[in-house]
Amino acid sequence: MNNLVRFISTDGQLTCMVTDSTALVREAHAIHGTSNVCSAALGRLLTGASLMGASLKSADNSLTLRLSGDGPAGSVIAVSDWQGNVRGYISNPRVTLPKNNLGKLDVKGAVGSAGTLTVMKDLGLKEPYIGQVPIVSGEIAEDLTNYFAVSEQIPTVCALGVLCAPDTEDIIVAGGFLIQLLPTATEETIDKVEEGLQNIQSVTAMLAEGMTVTDICHAVLPAFEMEELDAETTAYRCNCSKERVKTALVSLGRKELEDLAKEKDTELTCHFCNKKYHFSGAEIRQLLRAASPEKEASRPTENG
Ligand code: ZN
Repeated sequence: MNNLVRFISTDGQLTCMVTDSTALVREAHAIHGTSNVCSAALGRLLTGASLMGASLKSADNSLTLRLSGDGPAGSVIAVSDWQGNVRGYISNPRVTLPKNNLGKLDVKGAVGSAGTLTVMKDLGLKEPYIGQVPIVSGEIAEDLTNYFAVSEQIPTVCALGVLCAPDTEDIIVAGGFLIQLLPTATEETIDKVEEGLQNIQSVTAMLAEGMTVTDICHAVLPAFEMEELDAETTAYRCNCSKERVKTALVSLGRKELEDLAKEKDTELTCHFCNKKYHFSGAEIRQLLRAASPEKEASRPTENG
């Protein structure tokens, strides 16, 4: 079932993307064993990446969000393909914190409120596009809104949410929306958007009530006639493979590889999906030869 839908207002002044990311946040929780506050932090960033990634133009494009704050959870990373399929991880997935003064999971406390949000878009060009802004909130949705305002000059409203069961750490629902004004938008449109958002419930409350992504679009933009542009079915998806791990190994450099070549078995774990890859000493030596055969002959054996 399509769980990410993009809408445009019939007056052509704004777009709205809405996603129910419950299934992919559940998968992230299952892989990483996140505590509730870390499920919220990682789940919000994955949901934001999915919404942003689904706007990419072609199959070889990807988008990476990296939140590097000074909180105990460490860095949070989310990568999306062009159809909104995502993968990600959080440095310290078991951090727990007391609820914040609103009685909510303290995502800002876990992530930190000083640091940077980096947005990297690989658009299939020689160099990726990289935008970096300071963390302004640590609650993530506000940070993405600020990124769009500062780096892309696009007026944006973003909401992201993850609802967790307090006792079992299960993910009850997760989702988000991204409203963006098009260059044709008038002052009146901006007022109408703001007015409509005054009395809405949180995304997770709407999802928990059983509202669909289409229902949510109409609820957050009551003053606009919206039509569906396109829809995707998104999932948690890692694209790791032994070939990719080999490329990563080669990028470690000769010295590292020479050390690993002495080991009987080298185990590497994918950060995104926890899949384990094994390399024998012979396989590492093969990589060494493939990496730079001419250098190998001239270089003396290293001394450790
Ligand atoms: Zn993987």
